[in-house]
Amino acid sequence: MGDYFSILGGERPARHWVSSRLPAGSDNLEELPDEELWGLHDRAMETFRSSWEERSWPPERARPSLLDLKVTLARRMLRDCHMCERRCGADRTAGKTGYCGVGETSRVASIFLHFGEEPELVPSHTIFFSGCTFRCVYCQNWDIAMDARTGSPADPAYLAEALRHGMRQGSRNANFVGGNPDPNLHTILETIVHLGDDGKNLPMVWNSNMYTSLEAMRLLEGVMDVYLADFRYGNDECARKYSDVERYFEVVSRNFAIAHRQGEVMLRQLLLPSHLHCCTKRIMEWVAENMPDVYFNLMFQYRPEYKAALYPEMNRRPSGEEKREAVAIAARLGIALC
Ligand code: SF4
Repeated sequence: MGDYFSILGGERPARHWVSSRLPAGSDNLEELPDEELWGLHDRAMETFRSSWEERSWPPERARPSLLDLKVTLARRMLRDCHMCERRCGADRTAGKTGYCGVGETSRVASIFLHFGEEPELVPSHTIFFSGCTFRCVYCQNWDIAMDARTGSPADPAYLAEALRHGMRQGSRNANFVGGNPDPNLHTILETIVHLGDDGKNLPMVWNSNMYTSLEAMRLLEGVMDVYLADFRYGNDECARKYSDVERYFEVVSRNFAIAHRQGEVMLRQLLLPSHLHCCTKRIMEWVAENMPDVYFNLMFQYRPEYKAALYPEMNRRPSGEEKREAVAIAARLGIALC
C-alpha cells in the first residue's frame, strides 16, 4: 500500500491526475473510430507508465487528455455493452439494458463516508451504484444490487462536488461500489474528470467483484490506485450455482493478475459456510502461487441473507472450526492475513 499512502501524504499525485496531464494524441476524439481510439489509448498508456515510473509529467492539464480519451472509450462501450465479461452487447444508449439492468444513466443508491471498510481506507467516501453483474443468492446488498431502478440518476458533476465535500470532512479515498461499479465505468470516469485537480491526492478505489471485461480493465489502468476486490469462489461450479456466472475463475484470476500490475490490490475473501476447501483453500493456493505478497483480508462476516435459506448449506454463519482452519491454511501457505 506504499503508493496509496504516498498519494494520501502528498508525496505523489493520484494516477487519474497524471492521466489528466498526458495528451490524448488527437483533438477530435468524437470523430475517430474505435480502433483508432484504442490505438491512441495504448500509446498514451505507454507514456503514462514511464511518467508514473519516473515521477515526471507536464504541469498543465492536457486538453483533451488521456483521461478524456478514457471517457470517450467508456461511452463507446455503452453502445455494445461489454463493461463486464457477460458482454451482453446491449445498446444502452438506445434505452436497452443487459443482465445488470443498468441503463445509460447510472443510478446511485447512496453515498456516504464509510467507516466499515479496511482500516487503511476509512473514512472511505463510498458511492453505492444500483444494479449488479452477479446474482449472489446470499447478497447482503440485495435491495440495491438486484434492482437497478433504485436510487437516483447519477450526475457526475454532483458526485464530484460530493467527493469534494467529503474531502473537507476527512475522506481518504473515493470508493466506487454497488451493486458493482463495472456497469457504471463511464459515470465513474466522468466524475473523476469533474473532480479535476481537487482530486490530486485522493486515491481512487475500484471495489468490484472483478468480473470486469478486459477492455474495462484497460481503461482502469492509469485511473484506479487501489483494487478493493472480491475473490469469492475457487471454482466455476460454485460461482454458477450461487452467483449465476460462467467462467468465474478464469476471468477473475486474470483480472487479479492485471490489477496487481496496474495498481495496488486489497483482496477480500469472504469465507462461505461449507466452502472452505472448494473455494477459500483454492483461492489461497492461487494467491500463494501468483501474488504471495498481496494484501489478503479473510472475512468472517457472512450471514445468510436474501435467498440463502433456499440453500441449506448456505443458511448459517461459518463455524468456528471453519474459521480456524481457514487461518491455518493461510499460515501453511505463507499468506499473511491483514
Ligand atoms: S455491464 Fe455487464 S451485465 Fe451490464 S449490460 Fe454491460 S455487459 Fe451486460
